[in-house]
Amino acid sequence: MYPQQQPYSSSSFGYASPVSPTHAPMHMIDPAAQAQISQLQQELQAAHARNNALQAQNRSMQPPPLPPQTSSSHSRLNEERRRRTDARNRVFCSTNRNGISSCAWHLTRNKPKEHAPRQAPSGFLNCGCSQKETLFEDSLARNGIGSVTAGEERVHPIIRRAMLAKLEQRYGYVDGDFEIDLRTGTWFQGQDPNTWEQTAQGQERARRR
Ligand SMILES: [Zn+2]
Repeated sequence: MYPQQQPYSSSSFGYASPVSPTHAPMHMIDPAAQAQISQLQQELQAAHARNNALQAQNRSMQPPPLPPQTSSSHSRLNEERRRRTDARNRVFCSTNRNGISSCAWHLTRNKPKEHAPRQAPSGFLNCGCSQKETLFEDSLARNGIGSVTAGEERVHPIIRRAMLAKLEQRYGYVDGDFEIDLRTGTWFQGQDPNTWEQTAQGQERARRR
């Protein structure tokens, strides 16, 4: 996908200090030679401009550089991701007073629940969706795929499940991948684990009232 490199390099021209092909003063050179020198200088300038444009294009097509991954920054991010996903599970996958948990899509539809109250297997909600799919539903909506507003259209569970499976298989997607700034290795605003833990605590306090 990258354009082919032109058969010259910037280092072969010496643009910084163009060297005249002769040491004789210009007025002593015959007109034909002067014309040739002028033409060569113009060609050099044009080649320089093309080379600069090509380098700028190459730079713009490259993905942003990843931050240097040290083992400590890697384990810090993994620990933050684990805390964040735990908190998000509390927010989106907890059972209500009737012992029922549901993703947002199934919550707005009166369909029979896949699992009886308090009988959902580990990792699943009563609606039949998995916890990962439910968190993915939220991440999709936050990234403009489906609405974030309750009651408005979310991605259909069958499509959502297929998308998640493909992303997991192809890119090793895990919850949080859409919310980390890859250039800095930090969370986008409002997406850090502390904020999610506060949201979970606030919701749990409200439920107990
Ligand atoms: Zn569901």
